[in-house]
Amino acid sequence: MQYDLIVIGGGPGGYVAAIRAAQLGMTTALVEKRDLGGTCLNRGCVPTKTLMHTANVYREAGESEALGLNFGQRSYDFAQMHERKNAVTAQLRDGIAQLLKANKVDIYQAMGQIVDANTVQAGDDTLTAKNILIAAGSVPAMPPITGSDLPGVVTSDAMLEAQGVDCNKLLIIGGGVIGVEMASIYASLGKQVTIVEAAERILPPMDREISQNLSMILKKRGVEIYTSAMVSAISKAENGLTCHFTDKKGEQTADADVVLISVGRRPCTAGLFAEGFAVEMTERGFIAVDDKFVTSVPNIYAVGDVIGRMQLAHAAEAQGIAAVEYMSGMAEASVNYDLVPSCVYTTPEIASVGITADEAKKVGLEVITGKYVMNGNAKTIIEQQDRGFIKVVFDKETEQLIGAQLMCARATDLISELVTAVSLGLTRAQLTRTMRPHPTFCEGITEAVEAAAGHSIHTAPSKR
Ligand code: FAD
Repeated sequence: MQYDLIVIGGGPGGYVAAIRAAQLGMTTALVEKRDLGGTCLNRGCVPTKTLMHTANVYREAGESEALGLNFGQRSYDFAQMHERKNAVTAQLRDGIAQLLKANKVDIYQAMGQIVDANTVQAGDDTLTAKNILIAAGSVPAMPPITGSDLPGVVTSDAMLEAQGVDCNKLLIIGGGVIGVEMASIYASLGKQVTIVEAAERILPPMDREISQNLSMILKKRGVEIYTSAMVSAISKAENGLTCHFTDKKGEQTADADVVLISVGRRPCTAGLFAEGFAVEMTERGFIAVDDKFVTSVPNIYAVGDVIGRMQLAHAAEAQGIAAVEYMSGMAEASVNYDLVPSCVYTTPEIASVGITADEAKKVGLEVITGKYVMNGNAKTIIEQQDRGFIKVVFDKETEQLIGAQLMCARATDLISELVTAVSLGLTRAQLTRTMRPHPTFCEGITEAVEAAAGHSIHTAPSKR
């Protein structure tokens, strides 16, 4: 079969690119060895957030007496929780299949192997194309820890696929986004959770205050957190597993029924290239591309987790669209990494875009900052939400918004307004004049922007 484009991988990077390519008039084939939707839909974003929603409803039901509600004895059915999650992912997978069909993208359910610059072997089918786009994604990284092959040691794949993994004591190696979201889900269900993180704080790349606050909130919910802690081994114990690690206090152990290893993801490139043909890789094994997503072979492109820049679904989608637009002759197509929002779906939620005040200081950029603590926000009080805040960072000279960090209810939705503001270069004055509805969480943005301007209607002067 002769195509204009063959896409390898049906995750957010691949299927979105395939649809855009077809819309631009390219005959397009999509080769997917597992399920449409990729990691995001089947083993990532969607299953975690579906389980998180269930776990949050369960936790909130237990905190509802103050609202005048009494649900009696709470209980949950772990298998049914996963059945619902499977139904949600199946519904969304069907939607992707229909979209691909409606856009006349040919789907090959097979392992794709690149034979040469124009040929892909997809199972028994030999496909040729002018261009090839690799969107093969990533898989969980497994560090060389003794005992990581023991039964009961799992990755996020096992926790999220099929019926998941039930347990009473969960130990998580890695306090990054996946680790803290899993901790949140299991702690909300009343499980005993321990996090062991190698860095000095959980969520190491995030704003320091966000990490510290989340740590406090998780601890309040019973999660044990060890930081600056290096795991040396996992061993079999009488009733499960023991994790051995060293932290500031010396050698430590913690017991668990299940150990989740979530220490990052590596590119999924095994078997992707036939013998004697390959594109250049980075030192860390990701596919090397230029700013137009072109690999070392000029008609082979790569996007998404497999290039290892920002392992996020919306970044993969944006890269996929930019790559096919560039192929079709739109020379300016690109992705602005300063505008990629990062979100963590814990309670409270966390979201950020652009630069933090600390990062600005490091590069010698003078900034004006504003911060609003959400304790005084009416919607936060109405909904009994946890402590939280909104921080905004403006360039001192231009007064344009260049960053925002949020930790509050619905932060993952609120961030979109601030992404728009950063992308359009909106100023402090423009953002102050924007009228936001009452009562809403987004009124906190008004307060943070006003705090940056040195006047805030709803914050007492002493607290500024
Ligand atoms: P993938 O989604 O990994 O898709 C790649 C596809 O390629 C797979 O379906 C794979 O089967 C297929 N494939 C690989 N090799 C071949 C081959 N040779 N032939 C044929 N098919 C092949 N991101 C967010 O933005 N928000 C979140 O809330 C979020 N939560 C996450 C939670 C977890 C637990 C995990 C693990 C990830 C999460 N992510 C989240 C990250 C997100 O899932 C990824 O960034 C995103 O899926 C990357 O998209 P992709 O298209 O590059 O790759």
